[in-house]
Amino acid sequence: MKRLIEGFELFRRDVFPVQREVFRQLADKQSPHTLFITCADSRIMPEMIFSAQPGELFVYRNIGNIVPPYAQHVSGVVAAIEYAVKVLKVKNIVICGHSDCGAMKALMNPAALVDKPSVQAWLKHADVASYVIAEYGAAMTPLETLRRLTEENVVGQLEHLRTLPAVAAAIATGNLGIHGWVYDIEHAEISAFDAQAGKFVTLDPQSGEVPEATPHARFLNSVSTANAA
Ligand SMILES: [Zn+2]
Repeated sequence: MKRLIEGFELFRRDVFPVQREVFRQLADKQSPHTLFITCADSRIMPEMIFSAQPGELFVYRNIGNIVPPYAQHVSGVVAAIEYAVKVLKVKNIVICGHSDCGAMKALMNPAALVDKPSVQAWLKHADVASYVIAEYGAAMTPLETLRRLTEENVVGQLEHLRTLPAVAAAIATGNLGIHGWVYDIEHAEISAFDAQAGKFVTLDPQSGEVPEATPHARFLNSVSTANAA
């Protein structure tokens, strides 16, 4: 605990005074632009990676960056998504997996989970990735399998995400974009799922372009027309 208390003291002494005004403005309201769903892994630090200020990211973390499908499992993550979309009206949801993920490694080695029944049950929501990987014909090295599994898990969780009514409605009206990313711890790189291309592509921060994992808004025009009328 000593390490935590010392860290808090450093924050109060060096960081807080400089950002006092930011924290004052945030004291009674928040308006984050992005819901960032990622793994609980201690090596993933969303605010650090994106140079984000307090109030910018609504972060939800769990083992394996998982979103259970709607109605199957009322969970903290599903409640957080509903709140972020309906109340905070976030513009983006990012589901972000990462390299060397313990949850994904456990999927590759189910025997390791027999004495961890809660983790085992939770990772059922990632079965989608294992099943897709089983269809990849070519032989892959364990490292390649892990990478593909991590990517397929992100794609599978994006599909689960779309089963939530609040998310489906916000996408349909063009008010929400969803993105699937994988963060590489060792190289500080992000690969993003490009739905059009059907594959992950390396994000180029210089270009400012972000591949789209969102189906197009379906009745954006008719909604505007209805509002105008
Ligand atoms: Zn992980």
